Amino acid sequence: MFGKGLLKGLSITWHNCFGKAVTEQYPERKPNLPPSSHGCLFLEKDKCIACGLCSKACPNNVITIESERGEDKKRKLTGYRVKLGQCLFCGLCVESCPKDALHWRPDFEHACYRHEDTEHDLFAGSEAEVRKGA
Ligand code: SF4
Ligand code: SF4
Repeated sequence: MFGKGLLKGLSITWHNCFGKAVTEQYPERKPNLPPSSHGCLFLEKDKCIACGLCSKACPNNVITIESERGEDKKRKLTGYRVKLGQCLFCGLCVESCPKDALHWRPDFEHACYRHEDTEHDLFAGSEAEVRKGA
């Protein structure tokens, strides 16, 4: 039929303009991701016992932990860094934590210009998050 293609094209345009939206207008509108989406890691450092299991579970050596012995001889966390640029987002570190101290958060905007900025300080970051009331 003459003009069939044109009508089909116009119907698609019509549905896209007035039908249900199937796309999200990122970055103007942030996607509503589930809380446990593998966006970035978050450490509850008060729960962390610096056992190092998360670091050992990581297949890419992404996690670096610093600790020292307290007066009670218990290990105390003094640093926790994650090279997010090398992270596979596999979640093995989160699953291996015996204290439920490591979590995923849906924040996914990690793009940066310098490679060194892909390293995240979760020890200091945790303090910043606490101050923000997260
Ligand atoms: S998500 Fe996987 S690759 Fe990333 S830090 Fe955890 S264990 Fe390592
Ligand atoms: S496995 Fe959990 S408790 Fe152990 S060092 Fe990692 S985050 Fe801390």
